[in-house]
Amino acid sequence: MAIFRFKALEKLFIREPIKVDFPSEKVSDYFGTNVFNLETMQRYLSNNVFGNVKKATKSGKRIDRKIADHVANGMKEWAISRGATHYTHWFHPLTDSTAEKHDAFFELDRNGKSFESFHGELLAQQEPDASSFPNGSIRNTFEARGYTAWDPSSPAFVIDKTLFIPTIFISYTGETLDYKAPLLKSLNILDKAAVKVCHYFDKNVKKVIATLGWEQEYFLVDEALYLARPDLVLTKRTLMGHTSAKGQQLDDHYFSSIPERVIAYMKDFEIEAHKLGIPVKTRHNEVAPNQFECAPIFEEVNLANDHNQLLMDIMRKTAQKHKFKVLFHEKPFKGINGSGKHNNWSMATDTYVNLLKPGRTPKKNLQFLIFLINTIKAVNDYGDLLRASIMSAGNQHRLGSNEAPPSIISVFLGKELNKMLNKLEKSVSNKKMTADEKKSLQLDIGKIPEILLDNTDRNRTSPFAFTGNRFEFRAVGSTGNCGGPITILNTAVADRLNLFTDEVDKLIDDNIKKEDAIFQVLRNYIIDSKNIRFEGNGYSQKWIKEATKRGLSNITSPPESFKEYISEKTAKLFEKYNILSKRELNLRYEVKIEEFTKKIQLESRVLGDLAMNHIIPTAVNYQKMLVDSIKAIKEVFDVDEYIKLTARRKEVVKNIAHHTTSISKKVQLMIKERKKSNKIEDIIDKVDAYYENVIPFFDEIRYNIDKLELIVDNELWPLPKYRELLFNR
Ligand code: ADP
Ligand code: MG
Repeated sequence: MAIFRFKALEKLFIREPIKVDFPSEKVSDYFGTNVFNLETMQRYLSNNVFGNVKKATKSGKRIDRKIADHVANGMKEWAISRGATHYTHWFHPLTDSTAEKHDAFFELDRNGKSFESFHGELLAQQEPDASSFPNGSIRNTFEARGYTAWDPSSPAFVIDKTLFIPTIFISYTGETLDYKAPLLKSLNILDKAAVKVCHYFDKNVKKVIATLGWEQEYFLVDEALYLARPDLVLTKRTLMGHTSAKGQQLDDHYFSSIPERVIAYMKDFEIEAHKLGIPVKTRHNEVAPNQFECAPIFEEVNLANDHNQLLMDIMRKTAQKHKFKVLFHEKPFKGINGSGKHNNWSMATDTYVNLLKPGRTPKKNLQFLIFLINTIKAVNDYGDLLRASIMSAGNQHRLGSNEAPPSIISVFLGKELNKMLNKLEKSVSNKKMTADEKKSLQLDIGKIPEILLDNTDRNRTSPFAFTGNRFEFRAVGSTGNCGGPITILNTAVADRLNLFTDEVDKLIDDNIKKEDAIFQVLRNYIIDSKNIRFEGNGYSQKWIKEATKRGLSNITSPPESFKEYISEKTAKLFEKYNILSKRELNLRYEVKIEEFTKKIQLESRVLGDLAMNHIIPTAVNYQKMLVDSIKAIKEVFDVDEYIKLTARRKEVVKNIAHHTTSISKKVQLMIKERKKSNKIEDIIDKVDAYYENVIPFFDEIRYNIDKLELIVDNELWPLPKYRELLFNR
């Protein structure tokens, strides 16, 4: 085999790592240098203005326009000192990436003389065209205009001569069109609900923030090989390709030494990340060949999510320099693991207490139990919605196929903690506790920190696992915006906590002692959410059966799963807290199904084109070579010899004919179904048609193509194969 089969791309194919220049020896020398953070702000703003911004950052309240003028001026001065010539509002529309539109600082005065200008109005608000972003059906009924509004709780930053200002994105009529606005609202209600609980134990707590530490998985593919795969270029996943003889079966990739070209790439994007204040800390090889992961130190949710989106962008750009393509798709390759984005989530007080970490005193442990059990209950009550928020055309390949958490939402606690909850369930009666019962319970609760110290079992098959001091939502896909699932988690937990304090307060009013009241309510929650707790292997068939028996839902169809966005239950929760209206939920639902439909439509087109224009002609070519050689043999040998020598070859010729005929037949049928689906006006019927009638052809067509890949001469095969994509770097 030639080392590189694609002559036209040979120049692009490099094997040497690109040299990386570090700005300084220590990361702390340059960490955050491109961020307008509090420290920098203090230097560029007057004490009064700085005080105002600091307060707004904490409270999330709006900043007065006059103050905004001062901030804008300081921001401009700083950005220019960092080389910026332009500024942009930066937001998270309902797509897989962020959006920006750059404007120059410079203006012209009456005499045509140029000067740099930026003021509060430009900082506070901009008006991008909302019709160019996913907006469901509101585009039909309202003006297409939308506006972005500054989010002072996430600091501005400079990338490549442009000042970026994090913003929310709203339609002109007030509907949120992004991930950030509802996320901020959910953080606010969670704060209030959690503080109420904290006040049972400590009146000094003023604020609770939610924390997020994401782990980003990705694949790297050599750029030259990537360019020779139209399916990767257009759909970000391989629609065909026979499994490589070597895959991940030897378990020799996970945590092994990182290849030189890859580590150069990692160092390079980490430098950029660190300059932008993204605390990336961990890097390693993942399970599949050419798959890797990076993770930061956790941060406040809104900032952490901005940082995740920003980092994905930096990773894409830096990859170009290293002649790599980074794939964030959840399942770029069949037969090996896909990529997820674990969302590690917890809550912390302004008194520096992690609320999902057991403490040293029984009081702290009781508080821990409240947050733990209420989170379990929230996941129990809103599991379907959590699933809907992470479901997508890409992630459907992970969820429910036995490699990543299944479509059944369950919670893993670990053996000891699980035992503890079982005990609690049994020991607290709804009547008043005896002194002995109380003592024994307190003893048990006192033991929690030790229990967790020993709790090393880390179930990797659970979609939602407790990992000692946080929950880890593992089913999230690698492409997605954490804002989607985390908004739901925050809202569901906040609601639970509110209901919890209501119930406890009522019991206290009935003269039940605070601690007894807490125990009683917790016990009921433990019973109510028992079904969702599962400690076994989440990938097993046994669990699917067991879950059905327990009445847990297992929805693998994305169109079906998305429907939870428009259920009465969801509307009730989100309207109660004014986070998303029915209309906005409907908009999100429409965006989800339209995105799904479009992606499947695109995959279907690319698959059909590749099959007809690349695969069949190649196979027919090879077939002709075989036929020619059979004819040549006939000329040289006598009949007996000829029959013996060509028997196998003739079989191959027939085999090729069988596969090519089958491919072209199925492609024609698929196109017919696609055309039928495209004619459907109603978007819900349309997505169903795509799901039911188009998708089934994908695997069928692929089957014949992958067989041909094994038959046809390697030199002729037009697409880079799995072994080349996955082991060439
Ligand atoms: P693992 O692979 O074992 O899950 P990693 O180190 O890759 O561990 O990732 C763990 C992530 O969890 C990190 O981003 C870390 O900062 C984050 N994390 C730790 N504590 C918390 C917390 N209290 N809240 C949110 N995230 C947390
Ligand atoms: Mg993890």
